[in-house]
Amino acid sequence: MLEQKPMADSDNHLNIYREKRNFNRTNEPAGIPQGKLFKGIFVIQKHAASALHYDFRFELGGVLKSWAVPKGPSVNPEVKRLAVMTEDHPVEYSEFEGTIPDGEYGAGKVIVWDNGTYTNKSVKNGKSLELNKALKKGHITIELNGKKLKGEYTLIRTGGIEVKSRWLMIKKKDSYAALDEPTIEHPQSIVSGLTIEQIK
Ligand code: MN
Repeated sequence: MLEQKPMADSDNHLNIYREKRNFNRTNEPAGIPQGKLFKGIFVIQKHAASALHYDFRFELGGVLKSWAVPKGPSVNPEVKRLAVMTEDHPVEYSEFEGTIPDGEYGAGKVIVWDNGTYTNKSVKNGKSLELNKALKKGHITIELNGKKLKGEYTLIRTGGIEVKSRWLMIKKKDSYAALDEPTIEHPQSIVSGLTIEQIK
C-alpha cells in the first residue's frame, strides 16, 4: 500500500466543497481530511441531479479526487468518456447514498453504484510514477478492483486546470475489457441493492 501524507488544506478543494453546501439541510458529510486512514478506495456514485451523471472518485492525499462522468464509465477500450473534474470530496462521502434536498447544491438522488480499491499504475518513461504527480501531469492510470468494474483505466486531461478541467476516461485493453454496458446491465446500488428510482 502506498504511504501518503495528508495534503495541506491549500492543496485540496474541500473548502470549495463546503462552500457549496448547507450542512444543516443536506445529509452529505462536512468532512475532514483523513490522510492517515488511507485505504486506497474508489467509488462511483450515480447521481440524478439536474442532469444524470456518474461521479468517479478515488482517495488521494486525504480526500476523494472527483470527476463527473455524464455517460458513466465504459468497459469498452474503444469508447472515450468525458470526465469533468469536480471539487475534492471528503473520504466519508464514498458511503453517501440518499437524497440531496431540493434547492441544495446537486439536489437529487445518489446511489453507490460501485466501489472497491485501486492501485496506481501510472508510468512515465517506462517507470512507475506517483499518482499525485501523474494527476498534475494530466495522465493517470489506475487499476480498479470493484464489484462491477475491474482492470485498468486511463484518465487523460484534454483541457483546463484543476476543478472543471476536462478529461477522457478510457478502459485499457486487458482481460476485463468487454463490450458490455455495466451502467445499463447493472443499475443497482452495490450497498442497498436499490435502483436510483427506488431511493426515497
Ligand atoms: Mn454529482
